[in-house]
Amino acid sequence: MSEPRPKVLILGAGFGGLWTARALRRFDADITLLDRNNFHTFLPLLYQVGAAELEPFAIARPVRTITRGQDNLHFLNADALRLDLEKKLVYTSHGVHAYDFLVVALGTVAWDFGTPGARDHAFPLKTLEDGIALRSHVLSRFETALHEPAAEKRASLLRFVVVGGGPTGVEYAGALSELVRGPLERDYPALAGEASIVLLEAGDRLLTAMSSRLSAYARRRLEKMGVEIRLGARVTAVWEDGVQLLEPAREGGSPDHRLGATTVAWTAGVQGPPVVRSWGLPVTPGGRVRVSGTLQVEDRPEVFIVGDLAQMPEGQDLPMLAQVAMQGGRHTARAIEAIHAGRSPRAFRYRDKGLLAVIGRNSAAARVAGRDFTGLPAWWLWLLIHIVYLIGFRNRFAVLLNWAWDYLFFERVARILLPFRRQAPAWPAETSDS
Ligand SMILES: Cc1cc2nc3c(=O)[nH]c(=O)nc-3n(C[C@H](O)[C@H](O)[C@H](O)COP(=O)(O)OP(=O)(O)OC[C@H]3O[C@@H](n4cnc5c(N)ncnc54)[C@H](O)[C@@H]3O)c2cc1C
Repeated sequence: MSEPRPKVLILGAGFGGLWTARALRRFDADITLLDRNNFHTFLPLLYQVGAAELEPFAIARPVRTITRGQDNLHFLNADALRLDLEKKLVYTSHGVHAYDFLVVALGTVAWDFGTPGARDHAFPLKTLEDGIALRSHVLSRFETALHEPAAEKRASLLRFVVVGGGPTGVEYAGALSELVRGPLERDYPALAGEASIVLLEAGDRLLTAMSSRLSAYARRRLEKMGVEIRLGARVTAVWEDGVQLLEPAREGGSPDHRLGATTVAWTAGVQGPPVVRSWGLPVTPGGRVRVSGTLQVEDRPEVFIVGDLAQMPEGQDLPMLAQVAMQGGRHTARAIEAIHAGRSPRAFRYRDKGLLAVIGRNSAAARVAGRDFTGLPAWWLWLLIHIVYLIGFRNRFAVLLNWAWDYLFFERVARILLPFRRQAPAWPAETSDS
């Protein structure tokens, strides 16, 4: 009698989960791929949704469409709620699912470091919904400011604070500056020159994962685009109409002071999804799951953690990047096939393809093959790589069309305030122990 086909359950259809599933397409198994959304999001372009540069549909694609034709795979649109490691069961919002191999690729969620008021008033930028909410909020500030006679209140309505000087913060500040100083100033001539963008970073430079040369370049470019950059500035509280800042090096005033702003985009921190903390997996204080060099969980060889959620052993730390998740997914597929065939899985080796951050029109910072690139060459590199990795011809076409339109006419196409817009931030639910 032939052996039953192994059951592979993959939690999360982001880069890690989807790439695992696709790399298993020839494996004789019953694969279930689960996600709470029926679509995969191309997160590297999410900031462009938040800056009204792209429509949300341009960076999202239905998982069923992506996996169409993969006969060994079944997609389940459900929330993963609970894990029973002993019985090898996952409880979801649509039933209980057994597995022989489990791949947990649930990514990370936005984290406010416990900053008072952040969950109520700051906008995270981590999901498609976040991007849409932030975009609506930014656009609505201009409509509201038109009716505000008091100059001080108008300044706070039109001050956009971006918290975090990593790649997302830098990219969003740049995109916001181009939106505000270009199309929005033309749409609202009465408010011309009144909007300001402030990028806050607690450390002493931007883009700390890149060289200091690239950090300095990013700073110079952003300042030229009219973004005010404050380094060594820590946000200690967020209010509806501003942030409390601690800036020890501030000259001419108290280091502990308040900055009026009704838009705070929070790109500063992430943590593992709170739900995972109660699953009995070895989690770090930041909620990520510790894995061995093969991406397996200790004493649970049938459980793999892929992508942002995986915390590699000390000294082998990997950045939270799409490439790490995709390569981790392919590695996990090979490892599952190896174990099923009675072989030991190999260690995961990440091939570093570099780091990129776009700053604005014709300017980006890139570290590729150990070399730094700036300006137009880096911008072209960024553009090509994002188009190549974006899934689906239609999405590529939509993004390219939008970019070409923006580039030629200095316009932003995604400026409609939808009637069902939500302007309140939506932070992930916390569990009692996180
Ligand atoms: C704004 C932004 C910009 C970025 N820019 C870049 C970039 O330029 N280059 C780069 O390399 N990387 C970039 N990254 C990082 C990159 O997107 C991540 O490293 C990558 O997405 C990690 O993949 P993952 O599979 O671990 O998680 P994700 O891609 O986040 O996928 C996790 C999936 O799990 C699902 N999920 C979560 N919890 C549950 C649950 N309980 N039940 C069901 N489903 C669930 C989610 O819906 C999601 O589909 C960026 C990230 C962000 C947020």
